[in-house]
Amino acid sequence: MPLGPQNFYNRLDHHHEDCKNWIVVNWNLGNMCNFSCSYCPSILHDGSFGWNDFEVVQKFIDVVIENYAPRKVYFEFTGGEVTLWRDFIRTAEYIKERGHDIGFISNSSRTIRWWEKNKEKFDHVCLSFHPEEGNAEHFIEVVKIMSQQCRTHVNVMMHYDSEIWPSCVHVAEEAIKIPNISLALQPLIIDFGETLYEYTSEQTELIDNQWTKFGKKIQHTKSWKMYRGSMDMWDDVNKLSQNSSAHRFINDKTNNWEGWLCWSGLEQIVVDFDGSVMIGWCRVGGALGNMKQPERIRWPVKPTMCTKSMCHCNFDIMSKKLLPKNRYIVEEDEEVDTSIQ
Ligand code: SF4
Ligand code: SF4
Repeated sequence: MPLGPQNFYNRLDHHHEDCKNWIVVNWNLGNMCNFSCSYCPSILHDGSFGWNDFEVVQKFIDVVIENYAPRKVYFEFTGGEVTLWRDFIRTAEYIKERGHDIGFISNSSRTIRWWEKNKEKFDHVCLSFHPEEGNAEHFIEVVKIMSQQCRTHVNVMMHYDSEIWPSCVHVAEEAIKIPNISLALQPLIIDFGETLYEYTSEQTELIDNQWTKFGKKIQHTKSWKMYRGSMDMWDDVNKLSQNSSAHRFINDKTNNWEGWLCWSGLEQIVVDFDGSVMIGWCRVGGALGNMKQPERIRWPVKPTMCTKSMCHCNFDIMSKKLLPKNRYIVEEDEEVDTSIQ
């Protein structure tokens, strides 16, 4: 049943039971990239942080697995372009050997031979088409290969430039012919901040209606493992709940859980380019330590009290949150005297 008229809820929790079993590590592995998209801040692709040594990464993986045991860990790598790191495949193999899962975000630019050779080593990929430098035909080939192998999400970065825009639409049209993928047409945001580039009304209309025009046409014949998904808002007093996506919380500006207890840190962590380990990209509580000195990390043992008025990142929103009981009042029904006078 949906929430009552006041939309009160006291708990945000994973809609899919499977998601409750996974610890997710969102790890910025390095900021080197073979592309330099005009809308990407240079810190995200200029290579200034370099890559870590394999042994350092391996040790941190071990410590994470031990800390969260017996739960399974899904390591999700972002960059930069992580496939450029010479030890990336070795790292993927190591994670699989240890019995845990790996996924990553990629601009898909590695050769078809590379994807064919390594496709079985991953559990999830998020492939992004960047139209200034990406090749549409190559990109679609990679999506076809990976979608037969594991959960494959496709992002098409929708470029506002009228000369580039058609190639983005073309990629979206080709992508929906491939079964078992998910697709998002992403409007470009200046410096990946909060302000969108200027789009025409036709462009905006297409992005806003992407589900009807594209997403719903994708055929699904397989079900994949799920690490994170939509969230349920629970009113535990009246036993009511309502489902929502992280995206919708942001769009509706209802992404404020200040004063709530948050399970980020207990069911997810993030690692930044410089090795800082934090409960989320919100940085609440500051760095817990650095992955280069894993023995000194102060692992959270209880939920964190949220101190931010905006939980701005999809990843951060997708962790359990609870409004402490002393923050709301439960009014008991008045006792009705049913005895016969
Ligand atoms: S592919 Fe990604 S990381 Fe590389 S320059 Fe483009 S937006 Fe930045
Ligand atoms: S801002 Fe951080 S602490 Fe607050 S709810 Fe979001 S993830 Fe949790």
